[in-house]
Amino acid sequence: MSTGLSAVAYIGATILFILSLGGLSNPETARRGNLYGIVGMTIAVLATVFGPRVTLAGIPWIVGAMVVGGSIGLVAAKKVQMTQMPELVALMHSLVGLAACLVGYASYVDTSIVFSGAEKAIHELEIYVGIYIGAVTFSGSIIAFGKLSGKISGKPMLLPARHALNGIGALVVIYYGYAFLQAHTPADGATALIVMTAIGLLFGIHMVMAIGGADMPVVVSMLNSYSGWAAAATGFMLSNDLLIVVGALVGSSGAILSYIMCRAMNRNFISVIAGGFGTGGGTVVAKADGQPAGEVTAISAVDTAELLRDAKNVIIVPGYGMAVAQAQHTVYEITKHLREKGVNVRFGIHPVAGRMPGHMNVLLAEAKVPYDIVMEMDEINADFPDTDVSMVIGANDIVNPSAEEDPTSPIAGMPVLEVWKAKTSIVMKRSMASGYAGVDNPLFYKDNNRMLFGDAKKMLDEVLAALKG
Ligand code: NDP
Repeated sequence: MSTGLSAVAYIGATILFILSLGGLSNPETARRGNLYGIVGMTIAVLATVFGPRVTLAGIPWIVGAMVVGGSIGLVAAKKVQMTQMPELVALMHSLVGLAACLVGYASYVDTSIVFSGAEKAIHELEIYVGIYIGAVTFSGSIIAFGKLSGKISGKPMLLPARHALNGIGALVVIYYGYAFLQAHTPADGATALIVMTAIGLLFGIHMVMAIGGADMPVVVSMLNSYSGWAAAATGFMLSNDLLIVVGALVGSSGAILSYIMCRAMNRNFISVIAGGFGTGGGTVVAKADGQPAGEVTAISAVDTAELLRDAKNVIIVPGYGMAVAQAQHTVYEITKHLREKGVNVRFGIHPVAGRMPGHMNVLLAEAKVPYDIVMEMDEINADFPDTDVSMVIGANDIVNPSAEEDPTSPIAGMPVLEVWKAKTSIVMKRSMASGYAGVDNPLFYKDNNRMLFGDAKKMLDEVLAALKG
């Protein structure tokens, strides 16, 4: 492929990626957005593999690597459960970080292109910065994977003088950056790179370990952004314009998402990154053995069906448990049934419900719930006082009143869906265990709240049967 044709293909792919991001911003156009992304990526890969910078001898290596990587990706994508998607995404981010590190080291030891003067300094700076971002992204994403999969505790790990430690690490990285640019021998340069990589890896681990469970959404979107910058840095090292553009698109959209997440959780971005939220003096309970801190009133599926049948206005609030139980299709059946009977059913979606941005929207769209009854938290929160029944399906942290009522709570200040303001709220979950943030939930003990204990899918099937029967 000629240089001109490859440049045209790259521009075409860039436009498709921008259209893809635009499409993904709305559920109704998301499918089209995905398609643009797939076509853009196919063009990008073909234009790179058959482009002017790949020799004929290199093609079998690339094809071999693609077959191995593609097969692993295919098997992983087929095997992974929807609830494991956030962990898979975290792992993918770690691979982008690892790739940036490896490309950085390869660029450093590659003697086929000799730079001099300012060009040499710029190339070395690209390598240094690229490896650093890659190292932070790699280790941070591995820890995020551990936290999201429950292999590592969600509790923040707070080292004494942690800010000072981070500050000293940053100074050492800057010092060795200077030493790297001034290095006279390859060995001196390599020493600086290795020290910096070690600090980058430790910083990534420390940064994510210090963040409390409730703030993980910000970390996930932030690592998404880092992986974009790592890819852009790789693009600079390889002088690949498309990789720079795509990396910048991912990096900046991840940064915007982090900002949106912070705003949704009423958090300051810098404070989240500095860590330590989730450590307040509020009622933090052990995840599995949360003991009731009051009396709760249980309700049966039949009585739940009766309340729903008699209601005029119903708001359903889905959470992570709906994803675990894969209850979205039954939720849709119940919604359809109630709407046919004239009940006004709507959904309230919290921005951090589930375990990844847009998690609930994806599940509800999959179950064909109409988009116009799926509302954002800000759009629906004021309507709870006029609601007869609010039905919480496998959600916990996002409906926890202590975020508003208890300033010492680890989730204090986070806006929540005010389900308790409805005439009756019904919480569907299996036990009294806490949610991801590990915080007890006073909603369960409110007078107008009822607990429908059991697996969400099983209980909703029973509710549906009672509604129809
Ligand atoms: P939570 O984790 O707070 O609560 C989910 C609840 O679902 C649990 O209390 C659990 O209770 C219940 N549950 C689990 N399985 C089932 C089942 N099969 N049937 C019925 N219930 C079930 O989820 P929320 O959606 O309320 O809040 C999201 C949390 O995750 C927030 O803390 C958020 O910060 C965090 N987070 C969000 C991310 C995002 O991007 N959206 C990313 C990372 C973290 P029980 O065991 O008793 O059934």
